[in-house]
Amino acid sequence: MVEPERVKRLNGEPIRAGRYVLYWMQAAQRAFGNPALAFALALARERKLPVVVVFGLTPRYPEANLRHYAFMLGGLREVALTLAERGVRFSLRLGEPPQVALALARDAAALVVDRGYLRHQRAWRAEVAHKAPCAVFQVETEAVVPVELAYPKEAVSAAVLRRRIHPYLPRFLRPLPEGEPPVFAGDLELPGVEVEPKADLLAQLEIDRSVPPLNLRPGTEAARRRLELFISEKLERYHLDRNDPAKDGTSGLSPYLHFGQISPVEVALRVREVGGPGAEAFLEELIVRRELSFNFVLHNPRYDEFAGLPAWAQDTLRRHAGDPRPALYTPEELEEGRTHDSLWNAAQAELRASGKIHGYMRMYWGKQLLLWTQTPEEAFRLGLYLNNKYALDGRDPASYAGVGWCFGLHDRPFPERPVFGKVRPMTGASLRRKFEIRAYLARWERGRDGC
Ligand SMILES: Cc1cc2nc3c(=O)[nH]c(=O)nc-3n(C[C@H](O)[C@H](O)[C@H](O)COP(=O)(O)OP(=O)(O)OC[C@H]3O[C@@H](n4cnc5c(N)ncnc54)[C@H](O)[C@@H]3O)c2cc1C
Repeated sequence: MVEPERVKRLNGEPIRAGRYVLYWMQAAQRAFGNPALAFALALARERKLPVVVVFGLTPRYPEANLRHYAFMLGGLREVALTLAERGVRFSLRLGEPPQVALALARDAAALVVDRGYLRHQRAWRAEVAHKAPCAVFQVETEAVVPVELAYPKEAVSAAVLRRRIHPYLPRFLRPLPEGEPPVFAGDLELPGVEVEPKADLLAQLEIDRSVPPLNLRPGTEAARRRLELFISEKLERYHLDRNDPAKDGTSGLSPYLHFGQISPVEVALRVREVGGPGAEAFLEELIVRRELSFNFVLHNPRYDEFAGLPAWAQDTLRRHAGDPRPALYTPEELEEGRTHDSLWNAAQAELRASGKIHGYMRMYWGKQLLLWTQTPEEAFRLGLYLNNKYALDGRDPASYAGVGWCFGLHDRPFPERPVFGKVRPMTGASLRRKFEIRAYLARWERGRDGC
């Protein structure tokens, strides 16, 4: 049973006598642990109808390139196979997602959609809710605790959200039963053209191909394997090792979570089962920090602009905009990792080659941009651009909150210093003092692919 607080009716249309219940899959690209799918199946079962799952594939998805499409289509291939085994019809269609959903909504009794927090994701859902001839339900699939329920306005810090989220965990941190078998979709005729999520589809798509795909297996099975490996090898020491760039002490789950290929509830339940200080530190990141980023993009309309930062941070950075910078680099020099700072260059090489930067290095990487660009606004824009272009987990609410954090978001003022003003600084010297980072440097200095 899906918790009623996860479900929101987006329009006033009735549930009609249609041919199927439509689940418009966009954010939760998984066949298991998916409350939107579970809700659609339950609705359909009550009406003795089959479920059709449709995914609208646009080659123009904001900021997406070959690296992102390859990983996503690999995951969708698995979804198609798994749903077929469960007797649920999956249809992948080329087109703008709202148009794809609306075309199939014509014959649907009701339409169910998962939740996306970014501006364009919300706009797509609003358009479908406005135009669909049937009832439209949105189900909160990507957060453990429904985001508005946890905190109905912008939270200024993790501490604020932590206090609000924790009391809800007993209610929302529980397994989602897969339910009874669905009504068989059989050879249900659907209007319009379906495409097979095969490898050659990637070759046909007119997408940005400037960033190569990664050698990382996509999909729920791969995510579950990675989770189990993390639990058996790293979780116990997560609280001690996660910040050390010389150690590979984190889960590597962020791309899978970003594409909705694994349920955050499933991950949290498995980790909580193990328990201990490592598990506690991990759940803080997975639930409080991740859902703080959902809160941020949902409640701050300027989440992708410098102007979306807290007033004190904008103010102090602007006051120090005229401070001399130790060096200025062009966007190209930064993108190619050609600065005087071997640590930063290594982080940029890691990002380009492996689609990620170690979590602690990522903070250093973001903050140094302030030192090497003319204005803090330019540093912010460039940070987001590079993050979203190369990171496999990029274009996520956590991308905006993460880059924002480097510029003072969700943080407090620190003693004032040049360029950073009151924003928390981070220096290469302190990194070198704290960690034995020769191994990290050796690994990435030459831009080797570490996947
Ligand atoms: C400049 C900068 C940019 C960032 N860009 C992104 C991004 O594009 N996409 C992204 O998912 N995260 C981003 N983060 C947050 C964080 O760095 C990554 O989530 C984390 O490094 C992912 O690695 P992991 O899966 O091994 O994390 P783990 O340490 O294993 O954590 C488990 C999960 O918790 C979540 N999480 C961990 N740290 C954070 C955090 N600080 N904020 C929100 N969620 C968190 C992630 O979903 C992660 O997969 C950014 C942080 C910074 C400082």
